[in-house]
Amino acid sequence: MLPVSPKPWHVPTPNRPICPVCKKAVYSRAGIHPQCAVTQAESIRPPRPDPPDPSASPAAK
Ligand SMILES: [Zn+2]
Repeated sequence: MLPVSPKPWHVPTPNRPICPVCKKAVYSRAGIHPQCAVTQAESIRPPRPDPPDPSASPAAK
C-alpha cells in the first residue's frame, strides 16, 4: 500500500507537449498550436510535381 503523498508542487513537471514549430508549451492535446500546424504544413509543403513534359511524350494527336 502506497502512502498518500501530496502533489510535488515544487516540481513543475512540464507535462505539456512542446510545439515543434515555436518550441513553446502547448496547452492543447494536439501537441501543436493550430496556427503553428498551419505554418508547419505550409513550410513542409512538398514541391509541386513537374508537369509532364510535352516534348517527352509523342504528340500523336
Ligand atoms: Zn506553436
